[in-house]
Amino acid sequence: MERIYIGMGSNLAAPERQLHNAVEALAQLPGTIVAGVSAFYQSDSLLPGQPRYTNAVAALDSSLAPLQLLDALQGIENDQGRERLERWGPRTLDLDILLFGDRLIDEPRLKVPHYQLHLRAFVLYPLAELAPTLRLPDGKPLSDLLATCPFVGLERLHPAESHQ
Ligand code: ATP
Ligand code: MG
Ligand code: MG
Repeated sequence: MERIYIGMGSNLAAPERQLHNAVEALAQLPGTIVAGVSAFYQSDSLLPGQPRYTNAVAALDSSLAPLQLLDALQGIENDQGRERLERWGPRTLDLDILLFGDRLIDEPRLKVPHYQLHLRAFVLYPLAELAPTLRLPDGKPLSDLLATCPFVGLERLHPAESHQ
C-alpha cells in the first residue's frame, strides 16, 4: 500500500455533489482505501470566464500501480460526464494524482508530482489539512510551498456546506 494524494476539482453540474460522488467512487476502487478527505474549497478559475471551482484533496492508501490508478481516475471522470472540449475548459470532474508515495514518475501519460502542485493554492491548502508535515519526494516540506503560495482567490467552505 502506498499513500497517494488526489486533487479533485469541479465547476459544472453541482460541483459539491460531483466531489461527494467522486469520493464514493474512489472508495470502490480495488485495493484502495480512502484515508481522508479535506474540507471543500472554492477557487477562482485559472482561466477567466469560467464558473468558480470547488476543490478538495483526498488521501488514498492503495495497492494499485500508478497507471492503473490513472486509468481508474479517468474512468470515474468519464462516468461523471467529463467532456474534453478545450484544454483547462470547465469540467464536471477532474481527478489528478498529486503525489504517489515518494515516487517520481515521468511517463507520457503521467507526471508525478503533479507539475503545478507548487503553484496552486487550491491544491496546497487542502493537502496541508490532511498532511501538515508532509515532505515532497525531493525532501522539501509542504510548508515551504505554502509559504510561497498565498491563500488568494480561495475560500474554505464551512463544513456544513462541505462534505462533513
Ligand atoms: P492540469 O494537468 O493542468 O491540472 P487538467 O487536469 O485539466 O490540467 P486533464 O485534461 O485532466 O488536464 O488531463 C490531461 C492529461 O494529463 C491526462 O490525459 C493524463 O494522461 C495527463 N497527466 C499527466 N500527469 C498527470 C497526473 N499527475 N494526474 C492526472 N493526469 C495526468
Ligand atoms: Mg487538473
Ligand atoms: Mg486532470
